[in-house]
Amino acid sequence: METIAENRSEGPDRRRPGQAPRMRAVPGQRLSRLPQLAGLDATLKRDIAVVSAVLPFKVNNYVIDELIDWSNIPDDPIFRMTFPHRDMLPSDDFEFIAKLMENQASREEMAAAVNEVRTKLNPHPGDQLSNNIPVEDDEPFHGLQHKYRETVLVFPAQGQTCHSYCGYCFRWAQFVGISELKQSVDGPERALQYLGAHREVSDVLITGGDSMIMSTDRLVPYIDPLLSPDMDHIRNIRFGTKALSYWPYRFTTDKDSDDLLRLFERCVQAGRHVAVMAHFSHAQELATDAVRDAIARIQSTGAVIRAQAPIIRFVNDWPEAWSDMWRTMVGMGVVPYYMFVERDTGARGYFEIPLARALEVYQTAVRTVSGLERTARGPVMSAAPGKVCIDGTATVGNEKVFVCRFLQARDPERVGKPFFARFDEHATWYDHLQPASFETRPWFATANSSSLHGS
Ligand SMILES: *Cc1c(COP(=O)(O)O)cnc(C)c1O
Ligand code: SF4
Repeated sequence: METIAENRSEGPDRRRPGQAPRMRAVPGQRLSRLPQLAGLDATLKRDIAVVSAVLPFKVNNYVIDELIDWSNIPDDPIFRMTFPHRDMLPSDDFEFIAKLMENQASREEMAAAVNEVRTKLNPHPGDQLSNNIPVEDDEPFHGLQHKYRETVLVFPAQGQTCHSYCGYCFRWAQFVGISELKQSVDGPERALQYLGAHREVSDVLITGGDSMIMSTDRLVPYIDPLLSPDMDHIRNIRFGTKALSYWPYRFTTDKDSDDLLRLFERCVQAGRHVAVMAHFSHAQELATDAVRDAIARIQSTGAVIRAQAPIIRFVNDWPEAWSDMWRTMVGMGVVPYYMFVERDTGARGYFEIPLARALEVYQTAVRTVSGLERTARGPVMSAAPGKVCIDGTATVGNEKVFVCRFLQARDPERVGKPFFARFDEHATWYDHLQPASFETRPWFATANSSSLHGS
């Protein structure tokens, strides 16, 4: 039987033999020597070298050759997202590392200094590492997260990296190897056992890092067993990925890309919904031939692409960045899903914006697009008790408040009920919020602690 993907081989995305791009990754320490940066002044290059000694960076040939507009440096949003900037480190830490580099400090001295600076950057934010991990036979089950009743996240070991890194990534500690907890599964067996035993679970999210960094051979044993009749409670199979932005050839010309599309088709034919949860930060990521081909090929399998991204300073912190992106993606059949607020870690101080500003950007962007393009919910914080959306501001009595709502919660009773936080123009995260004076539900910072932990 011919698959849909094969039928498309006469279409605009047909294989170009001999032209399949090969991925070349450029690690942080080599970024400052890229020929594209030759024209930049020496301090900028030094800044890149210093910051990339502390935080993880990795860029590849697609990002360099096709995504970044080199006539618009340093303002290009993709450059801002993937390249180091001096302000990503507190200035005294930056000077500390810069001085050691200048003095050609020994490897040991450098390593100790880098470690000291990293430790100050909150490498383990929130309780993502220690909570939400299922416990079976009194043993914590690392590599799965089961926070919300209907969805289980699976972190396969081979999917815990990305084709390129975002400067704001909350998994940065893992990328530099200082994560204390093993957060991935080595193989599918126990994960599948867990899913088989939990009939309340309807959604499986294969995630990372980037689930699409895995070879198709490695993915298949996680997915094919979900298609059997005894797993028919699993209705939705999601893949978390930024490959459409950082390496769209994963779906077009890589040597196992056809096999990947066939895997999606098998899921669809087995009656499962396949959701590619794509991380898109800016319309520029939707503008290359490669991403257009990749989107069309994924869609030809029956899979649906949904898009989500955090709102990030310098990258997409103005309304047109979102309205342009939503218009462009809906035109390509991609469904806007979430606008996130980024977590409190790493280079956050550089990228963060106040919740009040994120709300303003969201509301302004939504007003200018059609109903079909308004499907992203936001701004959303994935906080300890659940996913909190700021729906707007209001004045109740004499008090200005944020109107908040749980989209997901450990305690499903909380979902959908509006609650109120004191308006605070500087707050950047849920735990900065205080209940409004008339708010009686204890759904704030102090309520994040022990009794709500565990799934
Ligand atoms: C966001 C999220 C989900 C999925 O939530 P949906 O609203 O169904 O997209 C599941 N688990 C965790 C831990 C999450 O953060
Ligand atoms: S794609 Fe996601 S996991 Fe990968 S670097 Fe970016 S934010 Fe981190």
